[in-house]
Amino acid sequence: MAEMTLHQIRKTYGALEVLHGINLEIGKGELMVFVGPSGCGKSTLLRCIAGLEDISAGELRIEGSLMNDVPPSRRGISMVFQSYALYPHMTLFDNMAFGLKIAGMKKDEIRTRVNRAADILQLTPLLGRYPKALSGGQRQRVAIGRAIVRDPRVFLFDEPLSNLDAALRVATRIEIAKLKQSMPDTTMIYVTHDQVEAMTLADRIVVLRDGKIEQVGTPQELYRTPRNVFVAQFIGSPAMNVLHAEMQHGDAGVTIAHAAGGESLLGRAGPLNAGPVQLGVRPEDLTLARDAAPLFHGRIDHVEHLGELQLVHTDVGLSNQPIIAKLPGELDLQRGADIALAARPSSLHVFDAEGHRLNGAA
Ligand code: ADP
Ligand code: MG
Repeated sequence: MAEMTLHQIRKTYGALEVLHGINLEIGKGELMVFVGPSGCGKSTLLRCIAGLEDISAGELRIEGSLMNDVPPSRRGISMVFQSYALYPHMTLFDNMAFGLKIAGMKKDEIRTRVNRAADILQLTPLLGRYPKALSGGQRQRVAIGRAIVRDPRVFLFDEPLSNLDAALRVATRIEIAKLKQSMPDTTMIYVTHDQVEAMTLADRIVVLRDGKIEQVGTPQELYRTPRNVFVAQFIGSPAMNVLHAEMQHGDAGVTIAHAAGGESLLGRAGPLNAGPVQLGVRPEDLTLARDAAPLFHGRIDHVEHLGELQLVHTDVGLSNQPIIAKLPGELDLQRGADIALAARPSSLHVFDAEGHRLNGAA
């Protein structure tokens, strides 16, 4: 049985509907990431699951039981927010113990739980300290510890790392991944607008846009077979190049020709109809062309050096749309030089005019 089932969940504020019928099943012990642009409804959905917002329509079930009218404290859920308010006059131990004391738990049980959480989060040597003597990352770990001691069935995280600086964000992200490994039966839902966090942490990712689910899948599924142009360009960095193209059926098989003039043989693809399409190719799937018929031909407009890699922006003659290629850093590529780029046919993504995927399973 699914740990959590969302059926046609809607949320309205007055006349404004921000969640438009969300359907989702989350398995026991799964780490599910909600990702999407700012304002798409991630926090609202999480708050509906936690019980901090009423669900306007639809059903939320946890282990089969309807939760819509169950108060937050009885849902077996703990939530960690972006801003972690610790009590400054309490030690770490007391910060983590506070909620349990309020709930009337016995002292021995509180000590056991706080010590276990501190052990998982590597906070044991710091338990006697006060929050002001901690780094931002350590404070965020205490906030997570406060959620762990409640021994929830489900953990909810709402952008817990976005207040941390870049280096700390990476370190804490790895800690959250390890935390998940140490609690294999605990289901987690993790909200972020950062696709790298989503890719590295998730068992499965839900991509949200304007209050609707665009796609649900493993990180690899979303990367390899995005269902539409939105998901294709949201997952992966830099974003996938997408341009207008035309499918043609000829003696050699199906070819795709794009607006800037290049074309590629897609092979004997079956169900694809001739006509206008959108062609997608990831920057990392482009290479310098060695043969006579490159997919793209143009002039280098800008080069961003990243050390082992370089992002080469190429003007292929489409207004305002450079093609970006991620190429090895040691290649000597100069602005203004001509360049020819190729891609394996199997790495090409083909979408219809409305942006729905046409080739491959999705
Ligand atoms: P995200 O977390 O993905 O950035 P939110 O869930 O916070 O997005 O917000 C989704 C949409 O709902 C936004 O358009 C936001 O303005 C709106 N919204 C959120 N909370 C309220 C509220 N209490 N009243 C009215 N509109 C709200
Ligand atoms: Mg939010």
